[in-house]
Amino acid sequence: MNATYNHRDWRWQMRHRIRSVAELQQRFPGLRSKMAGIAEEAAHFAMAIPPYYAALIQRADARDPIFRLAVPQAVELCDPPHLAADPLGEEKHTPLPGLIRRYGDRALVLATNTCAMYCRHCDRKRLTGARETALPPMALERIASYLRIHPEIHDVIISGGDPLTLSELALERLLTAIRSVPSVEIIRIGTRMPVTLPQRITPALVKLLRRFQPLWINTQFNHPRELTSEACAALARLADAGFPLGNQSVLLRGVNDSAKILEELLRGLVRHRVRPYYLFQCELVRGVEHFRVPVRRGLKIMAQLRRRLSSLAIPTYVLDTPTAGKIPLSAATIVSAATKKIVLRGPRGQLIAYPEPVGR
Ligand SMILES: *Cc1c(COP(=O)(O)O)cnc(C)c1O
Ligand code: SF4
Repeated sequence: MNATYNHRDWRWQMRHRIRSVAELQQRFPGLRSKMAGIAEEAAHFAMAIPPYYAALIQRADARDPIFRLAVPQAVELCDPPHLAADPLGEEKHTPLPGLIRRYGDRALVLATNTCAMYCRHCDRKRLTGARETALPPMALERIASYLRIHPEIHDVIISGGDPLTLSELALERLLTAIRSVPSVEIIRIGTRMPVTLPQRITPALVKLLRRFQPLWINTQFNHPRELTSEACAALARLADAGFPLGNQSVLLRGVNDSAKILEELLRGLVRHRVRPYYLFQCELVRGVEHFRVPVRRGLKIMAQLRRRLSSLAIPTYVLDTPTAGKIPLSAATIVSAATKKIVLRGPRGQLIAYPEPVGR
């Protein structure tokens, strides 16, 4: 038996990703007329689609949400001037290569530029896939030293790129280096592998990760069709191993900008023991204008979800900003705040008074 030729093997999936326009055309022959625009775009931002994820596409058309998430479109090059390559100013908040620090108690490690799939809405398009490289050992050592002399950092987020594209050996080195810093309390891994390449969540990987608890895993499901039996099995392996699981979706036009679709997604996540954490408003990043949804609409969708769903299934709707970090977006729920009472606006617009403690 040779597992290398097995589509259930994650390395086979990585090697057989659709990476060129020719391969894309071969997989989706109906695309011929749109190929020129796609080719132009693919020359700007990397493309990669694992066969597993490509198989979730039902129609080779930008109206198919999975297609839209994975396949380049010419409109990605039509940027209005308010979009930037690095809208969050991450480069400015890089005290040393591979580390981003925008909050006092948290730091984010860019472990690699590689992902299984290059999401068309990615907010690190300036980095991901441009060259598929990982953090060199020297940089990792410097990061560990930095964390050691900054004991106020308690929470390290391992991101990229997708850290679970790394080999087990590289992951072990990375996690050992970060765990060796006594002041680091929790480690979080941000990964789309359960979504784009669930075959990566092997028993061997789970066994390795368990050595580094407390370790939180945040993933990014954006559409209910991504919750396949393979993806759900991967989530079950992680939840059974005791990792708290979170999900960070991005609100994306033509993908999940409806209460009905998000409801199905959020219910599915909770059913598979994943706690919806954030719903991100699209960043002002180059190449994503066609995905942006007005905040007004996002707020309406959130209000609809709150009426229909258990609070356990409700993520925080946030906008990440370069100067103030993440800001929760909510239609101001407090209408007035006097010393005696505050007045709140309920989800249907009703006003609710709440008396404050007497004499305080
Ligand atoms: C989002 C982010 C974090 C984590 O923020 P939480 O709100 O704690 O999830 C940390 N560092 C950077 C650079 C970030 O972008
Ligand atoms: S997996 Fe994450 S980092 Fe990679 S392309 Fe998608 S959104 Fe960007």
